[in-house]
Amino acid sequence: MPVKPNVYITRKIPEPALARLREACDISMWEEEDIPVPREILEREITKADGLFCLLTETIDEALLEKAEKLRVISQMAVGYNNIDVHAASRRGIVVTHTPGVLTETTADLTFALLLATARRLVEAEHFLRRGEWKTWSPMLLTGRDVFGATLGIIGLGRIGEAVARRAKGFDMKVLYYNRNRKPEAEKSLGVIYTDLDSLLQESDFVCVLTPYTPQTRDLIGERELALMKDTAVLINTARGGIVNEAALYSALKNGRIWAAGLDVFEQEPVSPDHPLLSLPNVVALPHIGSASVQTRIKMAMMAANHLLQALRGQVPDYVVHPDAIKK
Ligand code: NAP
Repeated sequence: MPVKPNVYITRKIPEPALARLREACDISMWEEEDIPVPREILEREITKADGLFCLLTETIDEALLEKAEKLRVISQMAVGYNNIDVHAASRRGIVVTHTPGVLTETTADLTFALLLATARRLVEAEHFLRRGEWKTWSPMLLTGRDVFGATLGIIGLGRIGEAVARRAKGFDMKVLYYNRNRKPEAEKSLGVIYTDLDSLLQESDFVCVLTPYTPQTRDLIGERELALMKDTAVLINTARGGIVNEAALYSALKNGRIWAAGLDVFEQEPVSPDHPLLSLPNVVALPHIGSASVQTRIKMAMMAANHLLQALRGQVPDYVVHPDAIKK
């Protein structure tokens, strides 16, 4: 019988995906659900692995890959892959895969939920009620911002951005978008309007950040950009933390230069409970749960398992992040 490939899994994953991998591979797994695998253990495991199943919490950098003598594939259970040094993997002929599409609608749901929660101060209102402060109905008590009929600006109209735009149509919103490339198809089918970044920031009541995190999008929204926004505007970031400069955001929220922010992602995750942003009442903060539905997390795990098996069989996996490098 041929020797089974060794696969290292960096966190406990849903059982169906684990079962599929077990059929064809020798598995080692970091069994903890709440703590990421310590670096020294990952460094040790990577030396033996033919395949790595990882999450966005692991830093897969050059130093780690130097130890990965047998590694043929890195299968990431996420669509974003800014935690992986893809160039370093390509140079070593290691295939890198991710899980686009399968989490699009779930992440768009969360983005819209966060937008509504921030606009209508849901978290603040719920805490107010639980503290026993609800004494009477009052005209201006806990008043928020209307979503229906407002202008939404989407920075990064990709898969998730388009899914958010579809939801916005149900709220009769005018949708502006900014990408590096125009999308005439989406303009036709969704009625979205292309603008440059500054106009989007100036005209939108709600701004959603949905680009990948890359050297080009790092600090894409900083002090200058926040100053362009309306003082009644709401910023929603469900993409990655480093795209919005947190010090600039704190200052804009604190000084009333923008009205509120809804954040699912942070520069440092987990964000410290002492982070200045969390001291502000006009911030709704979530622990990176964009794709966190039972159904979607199982689909993501199955997809990542399939990619891993495809690569180990010598096939080109369905979703590689560097197709040009793979062709070579
Ligand atoms: P996608 O389909 O690749 O869309 C990304 C969009 O961003 C594209 O339309 C792209 O258009 C645009 N873009 C890229 N670089 C840009 C730049 N420098 N300036 C302006 N626009 C830029 O990706 P997706 O599947 O929608 O996912 C988007 C991101 O969401 C992921 O990368 C991930 O980090 C994040 N995410 C977060 C969660 C969560 O749990 N919170 C869940 C899923 C995904 P152009 O190439 O034309 O610029």
